[in-house]
Amino acid sequence: MTAPADGGNGSRLAEEARAGSRRALARLLTAIESRTAVAEEALRALYPDAGGAHIVGVTGPPGGGKSTLVAALVAVARAAGRPVAVLAIDPSSPVTGGAILGDRIRMQDYAGDRDVFIRSMASRGHLGGLAGTTATSAAVLDACGFGLVFIETVGTGQSEVEVASIADTTVVVQAPDMGDEIQALKAGLLEVADLVVVNKADRPGADRAAAQLRAMLTLGDSVEGPDDRPRPKRPEVSLASALTGAGVPELLATLDRAQAARTGHGPPAARLARARAQVEGILADRTREALWSSQRRAETDALMGRVAAHELDPYAAAEQLLEQLRGGSQSRVE
Ligand code: GDP
Repeated sequence: MTAPADGGNGSRLAEEARAGSRRALARLLTAIESRTAVAEEALRALYPDAGGAHIVGVTGPPGGGKSTLVAALVAVARAAGRPVAVLAIDPSSPVTGGAILGDRIRMQDYAGDRDVFIRSMASRGHLGGLAGTTATSAAVLDACGFGLVFIETVGTGQSEVEVASIADTTVVVQAPDMGDEIQALKAGLLEVADLVVVNKADRPGADRAAAQLRAMLTLGDSVEGPDDRPRPKRPEVSLASALTGAGVPELLATLDRAQAARTGHGPPAARLARARAQVEGILADRTREALWSSQRRAETDALMGRVAAHELDPYAAAEQLLEQLRGGSQSRVE
């Protein structure tokens, strides 16, 4: 943990963000991305108030119209007076930190609207845990009153599928004219979908693409959800045009129904997966920090050297390090 870089105190920042300061909220999300002590303190204050929002993952191959569709969904939600937030995850651009072009364009549409919050999440050089950081950011937005949080993947990569582990509902967006159906299967995207949307329904071939997807999903009935996310039923396939807005209000209504159907049935699998992503991300960070701390670095290096020289196998080395870390944490507690 680094010292508070922005001179802010976490609980004060949390209070300000909850009271509606967008500046405080932005600073808080930066702190979460950089995993500072401020973030830890702020999250402690905010976490009990989170848990009510519907977190919707929007994923699919680039060019399918995810950004445009999310913008259209935001417009429909705002027309109904609902506060809405968008997190765009872009692990491929570690340094942009909010500079994604699409974001900037959309931000202008909502300049002055305090009930819309749009933000890019970059990996900032962290090895793992982007899912955890994103889930934590979503919890902060949730606690600050955003009842609808879209998490949109940008570009290609692991996050395309990983987003499902932190969303309540995962929407896979396809376009009719890209041969995307096949791509989606390759990337395992259909397996994580709660809803499949054929976007660009204003273009020819949309109905055919939807029919193909439905057929494909029928064939894939035996496909299980990833890990421990059981899929109760086959995802619905619907048509929309982000450009004209056709089908977008219906899509939002479908999302609302999916969320409403879950309430009162105990912690849904999606929430457990999200909790896991967050806690495991923090554990991985802490372990890495401990291994490479100034006190331990030389020892860790020496051990890695022995593995590289095949004097020690990787399991034995990991065991030894875990043993040391356990010893270390005990001695700190005592
Ligand atoms: P993303 O990469 O999945 O986020 O896709 P974008 O939202 O950036 O959209 C890719 C391109 O498709 C852009 O040129 C959009 O204007 C266009 N597009 C998005 N939605 C639609 C739609 O419903 N109909 C048509 N015709 N074009 C669309």
